[in-house]
Amino acid sequence: MSDQTKFTLSENDIPKAWYNIQADLPFDLPPVLHPATKKPVGPDDLAPLFPMELIKQEVSKERWIEIPDPVRDVYKLWRPTPLYRAHRLEKALQTPAKIFYKYEGVSPAGSHKPNTAVAQAFYNKEAGTRRITTETGAGQWGSALSLACKMFGIECKVYMVRVSYDQKPYRRYLMETWGATVVPSPSPDTNVGRATLAQDPECSGSLGLAISEAIEDAVTNKTPTKYALGSVLNHVLMHQTVIGLEAQRQLEMADVEPDILIGCIGGGSNFAGFAFPFLPPKLKDKNHKLRVIAVEPAAAPSLTRGVYAYDFGDTSMMTPLIKMYTLGHGFMPAPIHAGGLRYHGMASEICELYRHGYIEARAVNQLTTFEAGVLFAQTESILPAPEAAHAVRAVIDEAIACREEGISRTIVFNLCGHGHFDLSAYERYLSGKMVDYELPEEQIKKAQESLPTVG
Ligand SMILES: *Cc1c(COP(=O)(O)O)cnc(C)c1O
Repeated sequence: MSDQTKFTLSENDIPKAWYNIQADLPFDLPPVLHPATKKPVGPDDLAPLFPMELIKQEVSKERWIEIPDPVRDVYKLWRPTPLYRAHRLEKALQTPAKIFYKYEGVSPAGSHKPNTAVAQAFYNKEAGTRRITTETGAGQWGSALSLACKMFGIECKVYMVRVSYDQKPYRRYLMETWGATVVPSPSPDTNVGRATLAQDPECSGSLGLAISEAIEDAVTNKTPTKYALGSVLNHVLMHQTVIGLEAQRQLEMADVEPDILIGCIGGGSNFAGFAFPFLPPKLKDKNHKLRVIAVEPAAAPSLTRGVYAYDFGDTSMMTPLIKMYTLGHGFMPAPIHAGGLRYHGMASEICELYRHGYIEARAVNQLTTFEAGVLFAQTESILPAPEAAHAVRAVIDEAIACREEGISRTIVFNLCGHGHFDLSAYERYLSGKMVDYELPEEQIKKAQESLPTVG
């Protein structure tokens, strides 16, 4: 190994196909159920929301799905993304481990989310969609979709949770600069929004309510309108596999094989996109030495403390039922600063891989996460998004374990975004105002009382 720091590929090396893990799963995924009939949903149930190509991808068992050239052309604006060797972090930790990270923060939106937003906008354009609606919390997904829609000449309407709209305006300005219409949710633009405002004009909103508004808008608008989701679904996770496919080639350039892969999980898309392409040997042989670790916040610990049950994907019980590890759709996570990780459930593919023992999960607290984020910024210089700092925490812990055991392992993780829009969170940490949130077992039990009964 030389001292090389950055492993870069050329535009020709952008993957030509996404990897679809459904071809290689040694188990079936539980069917997704219709919320009213509790029968498996079919393509016709989803057709009002998504273009048919995406619905097909959702259930496809083809191992490789070709990436259309217009999508690869947009990817060229920032892909391939670099893989770095974290020499300075290794040195600070005095670890014999080799640490590498794939950096998705170089995208125009600053995270991995445009990888799927661009693909979704393309298939919508092909299907004649003129408008796309979506919800956003802190704005990562809304900004990714705004830029993707602009690339393909589609109107974009974003229902942004009111409290974020008011308190975190910078990603809103980014969305508006890319031409999207952003309204605070609840909004006067939908029936569900108007009804909520009539009861409480000051309502600060929730992600579940914003989803309801975006879906109502998509299915009722006279202009051909569809809805787009930024995580959780199979096709979204598949679009993200460009991350892992590139990383595999870059690790070959570095002449190493990973022992441990690490990513943070909110709905599961960046972790899946990074890790799934490495999984086939492990899916064939569970005793394969590769370890794959998903890191979640202790304040929203769906894999490590949730129950395995059918639940709604959203708080307002509009979506189909997904079998997953869930804290309950009524679960209200503490206001931790990693907004992208405050989800009550988890992607079905990730839940099944975890349940069958192919991947591990661990939960980390907020303060120790920011401590890791700051150490990373002070050594590698990149400021991690608070979500990504969860992965950094686990990486540091594994590297310290290597030091204590006197073993060199190759640890590779996905640095899924930068934290430039999250500086107020870093300010709270640095000024000592940040706190950890203990999650009482009763709160989880209570949220799970509302789980739907199935069958
Ligand atoms: C949205 C987001 C996440 C969480 O979503 P996943 O689907 O789990 O990847 C994590 N990190 C960043 C930077 C995000 O923007």
